[in-house]
Amino acid sequence: MAWRSSGTSNSGLIENMVRNGLIKDENIKKAMLNVDRAHYAPCMAYEDSPQPIGHSATISAPHMHASACEHLLDFLNPGAKVLDIGSGSGYLTHVIAELVKPDGTVVGVDHIQPLVDLAEKNMGKSKEGRGLLESGAVKFIKADGRKGWPADAPYDAIHVGAAAAVHHKELEDQLKTPGRLFVPVEEGYQQYIFVVDKDENGKVERKKLFGVQYVPLTDAPAS
Ligand code: SAH
Repeated sequence: MAWRSSGTSNSGLIENMVRNGLIKDENIKKAMLNVDRAHYAPCMAYEDSPQPIGHSATISAPHMHASACEHLLDFLNPGAKVLDIGSGSGYLTHVIAELVKPDGTVVGVDHIQPLVDLAEKNMGKSKEGRGLLESGAVKFIKADGRKGWPADAPYDAIHVGAAAAVHHKELEDQLKTPGRLFVPVEEGYQQYIFVVDKDENGKVERKKLFGVQYVPLTDAPAS
């Protein structure tokens, strides 16, 4: 279904994803309509496929961004606090910020400074994006995402946009009670999406969902 969703405009892409069942929720549709993917993807912005953004990173395919939002949706309410690890282009950080408006905050973390700068620059291309940066509703930080971002913890939701080699306990520790983590994790030569729920008593449950292909969550390149 993924490739069939490509469009010639942002709204065309989103409408096709809705038609193909890749976006089910009305608020996610609205949020994705409000964020022009062309501000974040350097080419073929309205294709339903990942695109290179430099530094061995990619902007994920729109259907993966939609899937991440659908799985985190119960925790992306107005006012929620969210951590987006491996923020790359900044696209999903912006979409999540739209979902948690008003009063929500999103911290985007990437370990490559030029990508932190790129995400800010990309968000600055729209009036709405500039507003989110200026109000502090969104900030981008250079850090090793495997450790989360304890300074602003705990979070209602944590999204990880790169495949972790192991289940990082630090990330689970930084969830609210309740809270939810969406993370690709490597198992052998495969990667799988895990949804990790922490309930109101602090009990953690990991659910393995489906196979994926993400850029790995690694050590920062030597600069
Ligand atoms: N959600 C982003 C995905 C970018 S690709 C988007 O759709 O644009 C994955 C990102 O994870 C890359 O930008 C890469 O630099 C980042 N990354 C990899 N290892 C990391 C680490 N240890 N800490 C923080 N970011 C990391």
